[in-house]
Amino acid sequence: MKCEKCGVAITPEESYQHAGQSLCEDCYLDIKAAPKACDPWAVFTAKKEAERNPSLTPVQEQIMAIIQEKGPLSQQEICEVLKISETEFKINFTTLRHMELARASRQGDNIRYTTFGE
Ligand SMILES: [Zn+2]
Repeated sequence: MKCEKCGVAITPEESYQHAGQSLCEDCYLDIKAAPKACDPWAVFTAKKEAERNPSLTPVQEQIMAIIQEKGPLSQQEICEVLKISETEFKINFTTLRHMELARASRQGDNIRYTTFGE
């Protein structure tokens, strides 16, 4: 069988049902993680970049690892654990956000950072 969206060959065990269609995992996750960000062009280019080059920089991988394990965390907590500056965090987090891997959320007066799916 084939994914009804992108046409990739999939087995029934690999298929996901969405709105009456059988989809591959990638297409299904695309739909589930529909863009909500305020900058469609940045999201678009970051996604294109992620498709071309899905690897993250070591710092981005560390940010993902810590928020997956312990998130949501504040910027200060992340910077302290990873020993990076606020600027370094902001630059790398922006990339992760545009790749729809991570996001920020407001909890009271604090901004906390977590994975996109949470
Ligand atoms: Zn597909």
